[in-house]
Amino acid sequence: MTSFEHSVELVTESDIGSRVAELGEAMTEDYAGRDPLFVVVMTGSIPFGADLVRSVGLRCEVDFLGLNRFGESGRIGIAMDLSTPILDREVILVEDIIDTGLTLSVLRRMMLDRGAASVATASLVDKKARRVTEVPIEYRGFEVGDEYLVGYGMDWQGLYRNLRSIWAVLDMEAFVSDPWVLARALGMVSGPVGQQPAGDNLSG
Ligand code: 5GP
Repeated sequence: MTSFEHSVELVTESDIGSRVAELGEAMTEDYAGRDPLFVVVMTGSIPFGADLVRSVGLRCEVDFLGLNRFGESGRIGIAMDLSTPILDREVILVEDIIDTGLTLSVLRRMMLDRGAASVATASLVDKKARRVTEVPIEYRGFEVGDEYLVGYGMDWQGLYRNLRSIWAVLDMEAFVSDPWVLARALGMVSGPVGQQPAGDNLSG
């Protein structure tokens, strides 16, 4: 695992691959003979959702839900709605991170209010110690501490979603003063510190 003074690789690409395959196998067993609808919550869950659905050996459908988040309260709005009706469907919500649990509890309620037959959640990472509201997570990739994470879909200021592994930020001040600090360390961009690298854009 690679580490720098500002960040450390927490979960490698190969560990992500093995764990996602295990989750896919578990779902394939649990949902045998059913026809689940994967609801991938944009944007951070896209890499996880893409790998997860390809490791599931089931007839299934996939749709996307875009959210607007308002402050720390857990209040959310729909920025891009599903295009699939979910009445009587078995919904599997696909999330990158469950932190306080507020977003997930609102989403679960929303799916049930719209008439879903069942709702389960697959989350790539679980920051369990930070939970404010108890909410079930049926498929959990990794339990982590409370460091800020980037990579494999997760961003800092729109950057780093395209990293293949998951990184923990050790020095947030370094990221605040130079959002490209990890990109520079990985040799993905060049140029003066604190200045946006010309012609490079890591945002996803
Ligand atoms: P919750 O409602 O559970 O507090 O918030 C979940 C959302 O917060 C995640 O979907 C994600 O957008 C954001 N979030 C929480 N912790 C992190 C983190 O460590 N890294 C990133 N990139 N986003 C996070």
